[in-house]
Amino acid sequence: MRLSIPVVWSEAHRRHAPETGVWVGVRIPADEVPERAERIRRSLEDAGAPIVRAEPHADETLLAVHEPALVEFLRTAWAAWSEAGYPGDPGQDEVVGYIFPTPGLLGVVDPHVPRSPAARTGAYCFDTMTPIGPGTWEAARAAVDCALTAADLVLDGAPAAYACCRPPGHHVTSSAYGGSCYLNNAAVAAAHLRDRGVERVAILDLDAHHGNGAQAIFWEEERVLTGSVHVDPGAGWFPHFLGFADERGVANLNLPLAPGSGDDAWLEAVDRLAEAAHAHGSEALVVPLGVDAHADDPNAPLEVTGAGFRQAGLRLGALGLPTVVVQEGGYVLETVGSLVRAVLEGLAEA
Ligand SMILES: [Zn+2]
Repeated sequence: MRLSIPVVWSEAHRRHAPETGVWVGVRIPADEVPERAERIRRSLEDAGAPIVRAEPHADETLLAVHEPALVEFLRTAWAAWSEAGYPGDPGQDEVVGYIFPTPGLLGVVDPHVPRSPAARTGAYCFDTMTPIGPGTWEAARAAVDCALTAADLVLDGAPAAYACCRPPGHHVTSSAYGGSCYLNNAAVAAAHLRDRGVERVAILDLDAHHGNGAQAIFWEEERVLTGSVHVDPGAGWFPHFLGFADERGVANLNLPLAPGSGDDAWLEAVDRLAEAAHAHGSEALVVPLGVDAHADDPNAPLEVTGAGFRQAGLRLGALGLPTVVVQEGGYVLETVGSLVRAVLEGLAEA
């Protein structure tokens, strides 16, 4: 059977092509690479899914989710870095911070805006493994357009739409980026649905890492439920500081799982997220979909199978709500396409 869910796509994702990132002081090869999206698209095309070009959208909803200063920083970071001459020095070919204005450094003093672009980066980026290159802004902004176009399709009556986004976005808060993410595509899609008349929206994050960005953005927003199943940060996993069960905003739910958890525990958590959306009275879903909970993915120690991902699609689809699926993580090129396809086929079949 043909996969009926439209796949929203932008070629601009290719412009973000990081080659390395700095992780615990070591330069390592990048894994959030253009080939990921290409593989996913091919797999969904093979399944018969229609491909829809992302439509440009104004910054209105983007700025409802992110502080203007973050957006302006990302838009201008590469130009400022280049003008300051960094790329001429070996190893400085991507924007990476080196000093971070932590609360302990600043005390009660309001910091000045630093002159050095490398220092300014530390005010917005919370890690060293999310580099900005020459085309990063264009790709990240196009990913937002993918998510907004998918939300528009659902507002126009499609039961579900999938945004084949990269770079991903679910770690980005209103004012800080990191975790290979620059703009929070899923949060922007949820705000768009809310602002276009959907009374209550649930963001149910299936990526193997905590959806800290949406949790922070909608912390005090009763109309947007944020739920996330992910590997327990307390066991030593990104984002380390957040994602614990005792974090309670106005409408959020964290379900951390022990390393080694497989389909049974993971699907039980997916069911709990679905129940929470039902109890919240959500009228639409946004699903930040990472497939890095798969057993073969080295970025998280969860052991979910392809059949498990298909089940997750079925169970979320059983809610019968208009659903926007937004791509997040998943880094094994050989399987990323088939795992996304499994979720969408489950969703379409429910
Ligand atoms: Zn992840």
